[in-house]
Amino acid sequence: MPDKNLICRDCGTSFVFTEGEQEFYAQRGFTNEPSRCPSCRAARKTSREGGYAGGGGGGGYERPRREMHPAVCSQCGKQTEVPFVPSGDKPVYCSECFETKRSGPSRGGDRGGDRGGDRGGRQRRW
Ligand SMILES: [Zn+2]
Ligand SMILES: [Zn+2]
Repeated sequence: MPDKNLICRDCGTSFVFTEGEQEFYAQRGFTNEPSRCPSCRAARKTSREGGYAGGGGGGGYERPRREMHPAVCSQCGKQTEVPFVPSGDKPVYCSECFETKRSGPSRGGDRGGDRGGDRGGRQRRW
């Protein structure tokens, strides 16, 4: 398992998910990659008082607050904000373009009209 470069969802810094950490995660049965860099993880840990590390279940119910990042829409060129750090290798869309893309071209496909069962040979014979 080679080291992986990941992006922290809190501060947007890239950090290394090392081979050793991957192994550690795998041993604990975690299938997810860490989504925060070590310093943000440490910050979160210390901000939680009581210090009980590794309580039995994997009950992480925290809701990450969305931090908006300025970006330029790849479609219309408008300034917009997106809830993730624009990395540059993926297009970013403003909410309008995002909507049009989502609901636009794939509309009005007339499929799934076949609801009848009169093909297929299962017939009652009486
Ligand atoms: Zn971070
Ligand atoms: Zn746009």
